Amino acid sequence: MMEIKNLHAAIGGNTILKGLSLTLEKGKVHAIMGPNGAGKSTLSKAVVGHYDVDVTEGEIIYDGQNVLELEPEERALAGIFLSFQNPVEVPGVNNAYFLRTALNAKERHEGKPETNAAQFLRLMRSHVEQLGMKPDMISRNLNEGFSGGEKKRNEILQMEILQPDVILLDEIDSGLDIDALKAVSEGINRMKNGERTFLVITHYSRILDYIDPDYIHVLQDGKIVKTGGPELVKRLESEGYGAIAEDA
Ligand code: ADP
Ligand code: MG
Ligand code: MG
Repeated sequence: MMEIKNLHAAIGGNTILKGLSLTLEKGKVHAIMGPNGAGKSTLSKAVVGHYDVDVTEGEIIYDGQNVLELEPEERALAGIFLSFQNPVEVPGVNNAYFLRTALNAKERHEGKPETNAAQFLRLMRSHVEQLGMKPDMISRNLNEGFSGGEKKRNEILQMEILQPDVILLDEIDSGLDIDALKAVSEGINRMKNGERTFLVITHYSRILDYIDPDYIHVLQDGKIVKTGGPELVKRLESEGYGAIAEDA
């Protein structure tokens, strides 16, 4: 579904990704684990074209094209979605307005009729309720003053409304209480349809117990150094990343 080949990327002049290759299969859940500073967020930002990241070499092939040649907006319209590790607060931009604008852009791109304001409000309300969010999140400014858990639930809300094809979730589970972790995991599971591909960056096995990944990849020092099945998580927890790096 998406093939990342020999990706090299820098942030602020420092090379972070050093020839990273990774194939994401259609309909599968891929988890990425790795030590702090390994380049996990840099990878997710490179895929969506975040301005922080300079890709210096490599390709990301998706839907027959190299997405590195597309603008960030075009990547989003092509169905690539990233929930950032630290979602930005956007004062002055109403949450519902922001999301409806994004949805309408996608609908226009796909030649579908646009969801109008009243339809959208109903849709957003039902998702807000399902995710256990407070109703005022609809009319508040995007992420402004949201707690950590509220921001993460709001990212899942965006994902559920935009219905993307490739879903990257960067530490969606960090800092969540038990109820929020369940709500977020259930949202992810609702999105599974055998077609969508997920790339879930995490430090914890807890979310993986809920969302049942097909593959675990270990990212260390800017490369994928090991790929395995879910059993790899237990090994990482007992032996740490050092041991994995040695046999890689
Ligand atoms: P991870 O998500 O695996 O913890 P990141 O991809 O966020 O790691 O970061 C990789 C490296 O890039 C880290 O050493 C981090 O300090 C550095 N880095 C990230 N963002 C910036 C930035 N905006 N400016 C300078 N260095 C950065
Ligand atoms: Mg980190
Ligand atoms: Mg990170």
